[in-house]
Amino acid sequence: MSDLSYTPLEQIPKIHATLKKTFNSQTTLPLQYRKNQLYQLARLVRDNKDAFVDALHKDLGKQKLEVVLQEVNSSVAMCIDSADNLEEWAKPEKPKVEPHKEHWNITVNRVPKGAALIISPWNYPLILTVQPLIGAIAAGCTAAVKTSEYTPTVSKLFADLFPKYLDANAYIIVNGAIPEVTTLLQLQWDHIFYTGNGKVARIISAAAAKHLTPLTLELGGQCPVIIDPSYDIKLAAKRILWGKVQNSGQLCVTPNHVLVTRDKQEELIEALKEVNKEFYPNGALHSSSTFGRIVNPGHFRRLKALLERTKGNIVFGGRFEGERGIEPTVVRDVPHVDSLLEEELFGPILPLVPVDSIDEAIQWINNHPHPLALYTFTEDEELKQKVLEKTNSGSLIFNDCVTQVAVHEAPFGGHGESGHGYQFSYYTFQTFSHFRSSLDMPKAAEPHLGFRYPPYTDEVIKGLEERLAAIPIPEVTSQNGNGHSNGYANGHSNGHA
Ligand code: NAD
Repeated sequence: MSDLSYTPLEQIPKIHATLKKTFNSQTTLPLQYRKNQLYQLARLVRDNKDAFVDALHKDLGKQKLEVVLQEVNSSVAMCIDSADNLEEWAKPEKPKVEPHKEHWNITVNRVPKGAALIISPWNYPLILTVQPLIGAIAAGCTAAVKTSEYTPTVSKLFADLFPKYLDANAYIIVNGAIPEVTTLLQLQWDHIFYTGNGKVARIISAAAAKHLTPLTLELGGQCPVIIDPSYDIKLAAKRILWGKVQNSGQLCVTPNHVLVTRDKQEELIEALKEVNKEFYPNGALHSSSTFGRIVNPGHFRRLKALLERTKGNIVFGGRFEGERGIEPTVVRDVPHVDSLLEEELFGPILPLVPVDSIDEAIQWINNHPHPLALYTFTEDEELKQKVLEKTNSGSLIFNDCVTQVAVHEAPFGGHGESGHGYQFSYYTFQTFSHFRSSLDMPKAAEPHLGFRYPPYTDEVIKGLEERLAAIPIPEVTSQNGNGHSNGYANGHSNGHA
């Protein structure tokens, strides 16, 4: 049991007041201050790498390689990347304007939103706490950071380290569970960034709406996989199983299930068996240095119950150990309606759902909420284009799984049920920034503005109407290039009013 102590409820409004006061004092505004805090955050993670590795092992049975690769190194790299690029990102932008506005000094300024609330989950408790914080710091915000009660050792470590490395009046850890989050949500924040599940996201959204607080929701869902029957099945199996066993499948972008054409299921099963043997020659549950554990007995029981109710057949795995160990488990012939497809699995169970065709797989995806990620294994460029055009998801990945989380140069975020808003480097900076346009009208413009002042005259109206008529609007052309009009009005009647 960790000795994590929760933040006293009466302390929370005081933390909020401190963060507002610090923000209003403009302490966090200078770019050099922000860069220094980003360097300090990088130091916090790197100096304490071993403590984080131990804490993550204690809380999640997480493996050193996964922690260093996916949490420690990425956190430090993103801090430095944000600090290095900050001047460029924060630079006021001069938008391209119509010629008559060129002397109005129109500028888009990036200003910090204010005091932010960050609520992070347990599954990647280091990177998913640091990642939004980097954006908040880079943008010039202050922030309260609520870490997860499910990973108490990591949360306690953060609580101990924050004041040692960061400005204690600007970045403050709040520890606790539902009462603490509820108290935080009663206060007015200038941005809320929540990573977690859709059920809690609805509570957060309702609370944010009361104060009209802008909100980022980084959620999860069932990320499906499609396999083109002509793709190298062994390679697909290797990349899918690798994605599935990361953190024991407790990853928001883990492949949830595979939509496989019936004629390829057998080949895929054989390939998955081979890969599983290569990954864990002595069985995953005996590979404590390469395979993790389920976060707590509650989630372990949830997964066990889902597996017990499936109408599919277990191909391999299905063994449980103690209160937190589940081996990689592949289930075949899972029908479209099944316990294993009721919710995001968030565990090392991989259902194979046979379909008659890729089109049926696409239809399956479109009949379900937009996933956080859609994975498609194919080398057929036409099929890639078809999947891009006919489906929707937070992100679309061809021929690999999970790797999109390493691409911090591109935006990461959900769509619909998998969330809204973006993160990663520049996009997290943007999330915590307000784009404040400004305009500075020169005195010299006055002779050109006379037309707008009363008394209004017919002559001005006529001039405006002439200008309107002179704006060239291209004729509507066929959308598929066959030269046929699509029936929209082209300045003459087409039968519609
Ligand atoms: P969680 O249960 O730790 O919840 C996150 C936070 O919400 C915690 O701080 C918790 O105290 C708080 N909370 C829980 N219940 C609450 C309530 N009733 N009222 C107010 N606050 C409450 O995390 P989780 O949701 O179990 O995390 C797993 C989910 O997160 C999965 O769905 C996963 O896909 C998703 N996820 C998404 C991303 C992403 O980047 N999109 C990343 C990681 C995880």
